[in-house]
Amino acid sequence: MKFEEIRAAEAQLLVATYERNPIGFVRGEGVHLFDENGTAYLDMLSGIGVSALGYSHPAIQTAIDAQSRKLLHLSNLFFHEGQAELALRLTEMTGLDRVFFCNSGTEAWETALKLARAYATLRRSEGHRLGSKILALEHSFHGRTMGSVSTTHKLKYREPFEPLLPDVEFVHFDDAADLEAKFSEEVCAICLEPVQGEGGIRPVSKEFFSAARKLTNQTGALLIADEIQSGLGRTGKWCAYQHYGILPDVTTLAKPLGGGIPIGAMLCTEEAARAFTPGMHGTTFGGGPFACAVAIAVIDAMRRDNLLEHIQEIGTHFMDQLEALASRHAAVIEVRGMGLMLGMELANAEVAKHAATQMMERRILINRTSETVLRFLPPYIIEQKHIDQTVQALDEILTNFTPVAALPAAVQGAHG
Ligand SMILES: *Cc1c(COP(=O)(O)O)cnc(C)c1O
Repeated sequence: MKFEEIRAAEAQLLVATYERNPIGFVRGEGVHLFDENGTAYLDMLSGIGVSALGYSHPAIQTAIDAQSRKLLHLSNLFFHEGQAELALRLTEMTGLDRVFFCNSGTEAWETALKLARAYATLRRSEGHRLGSKILALEHSFHGRTMGSVSTTHKLKYREPFEPLLPDVEFVHFDDAADLEAKFSEEVCAICLEPVQGEGGIRPVSKEFFSAARKLTNQTGALLIADEIQSGLGRTGKWCAYQHYGILPDVTTLAKPLGGGIPIGAMLCTEEAARAFTPGMHGTTFGGGPFACAVAIAVIDAMRRDNLLEHIQEIGTHFMDQLEALASRHAAVIEVRGMGLMLGMELANAEVAKHAATQMMERRILINRTSETVLRFLPPYIIEQKHIDQTVQALDEILTNFTPVAALPAAVQGAHG
């Protein structure tokens, strides 16, 4: 099918959950995607942080080829080497003790929520006081299944699906006093993204993160860090919490873990892991030999090519360039983020939408989130020339932008 036929067929056949950009792609190579005419697009979004090694990476191709000749699926009724090999790497990288493998971000997050409730139940059975309440943050995003939307702040994602998980309360973003006021022995978990992604690339402050760690330490509640977007190198460290020198009790990983193959993981401390006993939780596909083999190849390639260092260096360059844009253009309110997880907040939705659309016309893929924030999540293999190309395009777009309100009435009319 050609692009226009695909578009027409989808409009008839799919449940209308997505508002796609009007471009179709047929293949990818390095940091570029190609449409059916062979036109190249620079990918500064990497499939929302998934294609961390870009496209057609030889290490991933080799792993897929080799594993496809051995074993794709097994179920969790038997042993294969993949889960242990991958868990060895992930526990070393995160500083946590045990792993549960699954298939997506939201499934990892559901696992973390279930663990928190089960851990509270266990602690109560051991004579401690720990309630069932869960604290999450304003602007948070944790996924689309029922538990995940219950802890996700945006009303649009939550309200139509009510009633949701009971006993969830939202804390003002980065407000340690509000966190302290809402925290008690009734709380079994504090949930946060160390750097909020969907919510507009907002890193929490060290003060807030430390307060969450201190409070949970006092009662034995779990501190759960969602690193599905920020984790696995995106910010220049394996996990964003490592920038803060804070170790959570639980973390979740997914997006970049399989380099494009679906896989998620929940990691936790030895102490928290006591809450799950055989049969309490599980998944048919999770931790299959195929996904594990690819994730191992992704991690080994990142280590071999020193990508964490590269992300720190190139991320600093990118941030400096965006800051320079901010100093030149009044429409730029703030630049936020770490490593290759960066956001540029613009003055209003109109200019942000204009910039995102214009970038697409210049064949550079970025994303707009939280209405006013341009989000950059490029593949880790991005080079300086790609960053400079992106920044120059943004510079020109912002220079040429004229708000509709500033145009003469006749021209506004012509816009409809
Ligand atoms: C994307 C994301 C999720 C959900 O992951 P899915 O794989 O889409 O289910 C959860 N938390 C964060 C922080 C995310 O960015």
